[in-house]
Amino acid sequence: MPAAAEVPQPPNAAGLSPWASHPSQTRGRRHPELPAPTRNDFQRDRDRIVHSTAFRRLVYKTQVFLNHEGDLFRTRLTHSLEVAQLGRSIARALGLNEDLVEAIALAHDLGHTPFGHAGQDALHECMQEHGGFEHNLQSLRVVDQLEERYPDFDGLNLSFETREGILKHCSRSHALAIDVVEPGGVARRFLDRTQPSLEAQLCNLADAIAYNAHDIDDGVRSGLLSLDQMQEVPLFERYRQQVIAEYPQLAEKPRRWLYESTRRMLSEQVYDVIDTTRAAIAAAGVRTADEARLAGPLVRFSQDMHTKSAQLKQFLFAHLYRHPQVMHTTVQAKTAVRELFEAYLADPLELRAEFASRADRHRAVADYIAGMTDRFALREHERLTGKRLL
Ligand code: MG
Repeated sequence: MPAAAEVPQPPNAAGLSPWASHPSQTRGRRHPELPAPTRNDFQRDRDRIVHSTAFRRLVYKTQVFLNHEGDLFRTRLTHSLEVAQLGRSIARALGLNEDLVEAIALAHDLGHTPFGHAGQDALHECMQEHGGFEHNLQSLRVVDQLEERYPDFDGLNLSFETREGILKHCSRSHALAIDVVEPGGVARRFLDRTQPSLEAQLCNLADAIAYNAHDIDDGVRSGLLSLDQMQEVPLFERYRQQVIAEYPQLAEKPRRWLYESTRRMLSEQVYDVIDTTRAAIAAAGVRTADEARLAGPLVRFSQDMHTKSAQLKQFLFAHLYRHPQVMHTTVQAKTAVRELFEAYLADPLELRAEFASRADRHRAVADYIAGMTDRFALREHERLTGKRLL
């Protein structure tokens, strides 16, 4: 056995690289709080997210397939858990902060409307004249304002670094508006054109890796995609062929071929991100988390994997997200959101009391609808219009 001194030591006791987000260097919370005795700030953020109402609602919110279409399809909740798993694995290998990655991943979809992107598009159209609706901004609104769990402040009062990761896209006009309320805060980077922390960059990529893989699985499970059709996707096809050659005896159990091919595809992407990011960090010569913010996107795929991942995404767009059956529910979901919006606007007393009492009526209606689960939205739609959709 080597002497203790010869065993390579992690960069510090927590295993964090110098360019990781260190909780001791957090830019803090908007409302100052005493530190927790046993948890650092990012662990505390994660725990607040898990205990939030918005987080529990994710279980009944659509990812691609509506919640009631089948019990085994991904929901926003299981999707968020998969993003957290992939993100943490990669973070550990890169010496990034796993707690922060987990917090961002679990919160990244909190602002999603019922019925997935169809719901968001419909709500955005309803809010066209009133500032629009965007799910990333809404995720930030949820953790900053809409959660009502603490006596002293609205929202969850999360750390800057977690909020920075949650706000992953933001238009210039929205960034300007947020920067007035919170000067130099989480929207500043969209004006300065700098990057968020490496942990936030990682969550974006883990999100794409997760949905590209699980949408294949759900697509095949639903019968809308076939394994044969997947031959069009080079990233998947290589593993499909390998697996079929290695396990010809599983011809009767093609689902195992699917799982094994997906598993190998996921692993290749994870290793690609780890290797590419390590090299990019070394090449950029960053020494701290703040230097990483100035160095351009560092957590990324290799060029080759980037191309393959884009091909997979295009395939899913063409054959799954635009599948006639999915499009049919999309149209109905949009109708449900639009008619709900009109009904609440016409009679605000139908809103829950804390929304009915707000002066910013359109935004209050949008916040209320955005928070709904798929099934609650459908129940409310039926109650208010007498029509049954989906
Ligand atoms: Mg997501």
